[in-house]
Amino acid sequence: MEKKIKTKKDEDLISWYNETVTAADLAEFSELKGFTIYKPYGYAIWEKIRDYLDDKFKNLGIKNAYFPLLIPESVLEKEKEHVEGFTPEVAWVTMGGKKKLDEKLAVRPTSETSVSYAYSKWVKSYRDLPLMMNQWNTVVRWETKETRLFLRGREVIWQEGHCVFENEEEARKNVMDLLMVYKEVLEELLATPVIIGRKSEEEKFAGAVETYTVEAPLPNNFMIQSATSHLLGQNFSKVFDIKFLNRENKWEYAHQTSWGISMRSIGAMILVHGDDNGLILPPLVAPIQVIIIPILNGTDDKKIIEYARDVEERLKKINIRAEIDDRTIYSPGWKFNEYELKGVPIRIDLGKKETEERLISYKIRVNGKKESMKFDELNKFTDLLENIQEEMFQRAYDRIKSQVKEETNKNEFIKDLKDGKAIVKAAWCGKEACEKKIKEQTGAVSRVIPLEKEELLDKKCIFCGKPAEFNAYFAQTY
Ligand SMILES: [Zn+2]
Repeated sequence: MEKKIKTKKDEDLISWYNETVTAADLAEFSELKGFTIYKPYGYAIWEKIRDYLDDKFKNLGIKNAYFPLLIPESVLEKEKEHVEGFTPEVAWVTMGGKKKLDEKLAVRPTSETSVSYAYSKWVKSYRDLPLMMNQWNTVVRWETKETRLFLRGREVIWQEGHCVFENEEEARKNVMDLLMVYKEVLEELLATPVIIGRKSEEEKFAGAVETYTVEAPLPNNFMIQSATSHLLGQNFSKVFDIKFLNRENKWEYAHQTSWGISMRSIGAMILVHGDDNGLILPPLVAPIQVIIIPILNGTDDKKIIEYARDVEERLKKINIRAEIDDRTIYSPGWKFNEYELKGVPIRIDLGKKETEERLISYKIRVNGKKESMKFDELNKFTDLLENIQEEMFQRAYDRIKSQVKEETNKNEFIKDLKDGKAIVKAAWCGKEACEKKIKEQTGAVSRVIPLEKEELLDKKCIFCGKPAEFNAYFAQTY
């Protein structure tokens, strides 16, 4: 039986998403509530992101390390705001074998505390700085909201970076460097346009001075936080006593940053791209970039398969991830549907005619175009994949322009957010009390305060009427 996505993407984005992710064999729910199994086809996308980022980090001088999964309660609780922010979601280990532990151990919800505890021993002089480290790991947050594959689960696969600097200027530069790396991952690798900027006081990371975010607008006017970069200032260094002898030989508290991106970014990419027939994967992260389907007729099968192998070999030679599906238990029609559902960027169909004339007939997933070329022209597939990548970004980018509405009328602001009619940009005071009321009345929150200084859309806050501080984007989120 061919798998079909029943829900139309335009009608109900999240139902379409749930169906698609499962049908495309990316991931599924496990027997343990709130936990996800990432299957090979889905995990391979994460591997592409991981490899790309790992290079970028190393180019910035950041090294990989690994810290323990468990954090003693006394260490986790040192930074007050941080612990208040995370306690409701911490999973605890209380038993060691049959013995009750003297101290509860937190399964790390994030590692600022345990890393800071170690850094206080490592950092003694300005000569020890900067200290820049990253971990590829998972964290556990006991979410009570509904689990969504890739988007929200109790165990999060991610990376978390933790850096220490002599002064605020260097720390700020690091925060921005990583913000830009994350923007690149989303836009260049995942072909997913983002809006970058600062989080509000209410939405920032617990324990940070400032949080910067990479927000992806979705087709249904929701926005998804896809990565964050935090300026921790001296909040943790003062509590954990990370101090060093500076260049004037005086003791000083260090300046810290932390930053992370998770598999959530893949969820954003899936929601942005894809259509009623399933996924559409950007070539740079597609586990299979070109699928070759031999169309067998019973009499020329050997020749057709041989030709398909030639095509595969040629594509692999120019570093294209090509595969042949020559299984005879499935019909070509079944396979067309299957690889469309899986979002493979290009499908090549090879039958008797193609084999005899050494032709390539292919179909492009993102625009449905069917073309053909000669075998000797196969090198053009490199450019073709590059063009597909660009076209995917551009399509998403053009759509966002029509989604953002600049608003100066309070009633319209509330109505549009409530109904999810638009991503709303408006002048805002940025106050926590104001944001809480906006959330109560609309269900939406501020997503991002643009990085670039902009002219205010109004002198007064769209909601409370107090003087506006900046423009901000508001939207619903998952
Ligand atoms: Zn206000």
